Amino acid sequence: MEFRKLAEYYDRLEATTKRLEMREILVQLLGEATPDEAQRIAMLSLGKLYPPYVGIELGMAEKLAIRALRSVTGASEAEVEKLLAKKGDLGLVAEELLSKRKAQTILFQEPLTVDQVYTTFERIARETGEGAMENKVKLLTGLLAKAEPKEAKYIVRLVTGTMRLGVADMTFIDAASAVLGDISSFREDIERAYNITSDIGLVVKLVKVGGVEAVRGVRLRIGMPVRPMLAERLTSAKDILDKLGGKGLAEYKYDGERLQIHKDGSRIMIFSRRQENITHQFPDVVKKCGQRLSADQAIVECEAVAMDPDTGSMLPFQELMHRRRKYEVEKAVELYPVGLFFFDAIYVDGEDLMNRPLPERRSWLKEVVVSDETFGLTVAKLVEDPSDLDSFMQRAVEDGCEGVIVKDVSPKSVYRAGARGWLWIKYKRSYVSKLTDTVDLVVIGAFHGKGKRSGWYGTLLMSAYDPRSDTFKSVCKVGTGFKEEDLKRLKAMIEERVVRERPARVDSLMQPDVWVRPDIVLEIVGDEITVSPIHTCGWGTIQPNAGLAIRFPRFTGRYRSDKGPEDATTVDEIVEMYRSQLKSIVPEEGEAL
Ligand code: AMP
Repeated sequence: MEFRKLAEYYDRLEATTKRLEMREILVQLLGEATPDEAQRIAMLSLGKLYPPYVGIELGMAEKLAIRALRSVTGASEAEVEKLLAKKGDLGLVAEELLSKRKAQTILFQEPLTVDQVYTTFERIARETGEGAMENKVKLLTGLLAKAEPKEAKYIVRLVTGTMRLGVADMTFIDAASAVLGDISSFREDIERAYNITSDIGLVVKLVKVGGVEAVRGVRLRIGMPVRPMLAERLTSAKDILDKLGGKGLAEYKYDGERLQIHKDGSRIMIFSRRQENITHQFPDVVKKCGQRLSADQAIVECEAVAMDPDTGSMLPFQELMHRRRKYEVEKAVELYPVGLFFFDAIYVDGEDLMNRPLPERRSWLKEVVVSDETFGLTVAKLVEDPSDLDSFMQRAVEDGCEGVIVKDVSPKSVYRAGARGWLWIKYKRSYVSKLTDTVDLVVIGAFHGKGKRSGWYGTLLMSAYDPRSDTFKSVCKVGTGFKEEDLKRLKAMIEERVVRERPARVDSLMQPDVWVRPDIVLEIVGDEITVSPIHTCGWGTIQPNAGLAIRFPRFTGRYRSDKGPEDATTVDEIVEMYRSQLKSIVPEEGEAL
């Protein structure tokens, strides 16, 4: 496929914020592509080259892209700077500069193909070490020299990681199902394949190669992370046990980082909750799993918690962040060793356990995990009585946990990859009259600060995620809890994600000064949840023509970079929190408000 054609599709995608229309455009686009092209196009459209676990990102520095642009167009630095200040997007700058140049230089040029662009991007991304910068600039210059203005716009956006079409993995899942025919009949198969491979490009390719049969044939593979099973939230022990049919396995909810560990003989790989390969951050875990996971092949999940090496007590989640810095891993391993608390087994020595009930998976886990003081299964108790659950919860909090997760133990308690559901239910600290529990919200917009905050973004528009419609619904404006360093850090984070129009997946009545692509997840605590005519979270659920808002929200200081936007607190969770607040005000159960 010619790259020009893809650029035309991108123009069409950019021009709409309607999800249905986007899907239709993607269906046509995939229809025109070969299987390999479809795979590459899916990744590019999401602004990526590979699925997250490969760990190779496109993101070339803007200043390098400017160098390439200047060498192709002969523009001066001042000219580029001026245009960039005016347009605020290097892609548009590239388009304009190239359209001036076009008439004289491009004569008998072979058109660029999607494959050519993609493979050049691969080479750019893989350049490392000495001379890498120069080589990257050279490769990009070569590509831009062959590009038409419209193509240059997208080449520059893609290569600098600023592609903002508003399509997400879910949009491709819908589109891939529509390619097969009827969305509702095939969506489940497509989603299953995506959830066990974490690779939307691969799934799209399989759809093209072998239709639904190929998609159904997808199996778990060691080295390919499975998208994690997630929990819903309820706020009373009784509700939880009712929901689970009277019985559940209550487990401590540790406040650390979720690790999915893959073992293949002597090779250990560790994946984050967002499916990134983070093996290098945990050399100590690699070593220990080599010694203490008794299976030859396994996929298991645990929570890694930073421990105080002197007292053996659990430390706050933040201490794990030291491991994110490349040069500090060794030091962090010494200063902040981790304890591992295993809670699931997905695959063991040829046995795919995903469809087995939890008790069976847990017995496999017991077989595989050879425990010591800092390596073992989560503390767990089978509970059938709300007061039992409450005292177990208290014990968990006393032992330094956030609360508990209560899990279904019935025959239907399978591992539901990539999904939030009622098989796992979070139960965090109690709600008495105030909202004391934290929520993880996604930034969708920002307002310029005033007075002492001028020059920064003083207030952020926050949202909860609605998995049903795959949209982000506004739930509060937060302007407190930010230290000076947070304002700085957030400004940089926001600027990388500013978009000119409301992103397609954002649902908000409020109009911020700038829209932000939903990506940044922050932990927020508020005082209570109220009915609100201006926020769209839970619109119409409690009152017609009104949504829900968090009152007096504050940033806790915790950046949830371990969570993707789709892992944020959901609209349903906020609705449930609102309902539970009401219950705590009503003196007698059932009494009308
Ligand atoms: P949340 O991030 O609030 O949605 O809670 C779910 C997360 O809790 C999981 O993704 C795990 O990282 C973590 N977690 C801690 N303890 C457990 C446990 N016993 N079982 C499952 N998840 C746990």
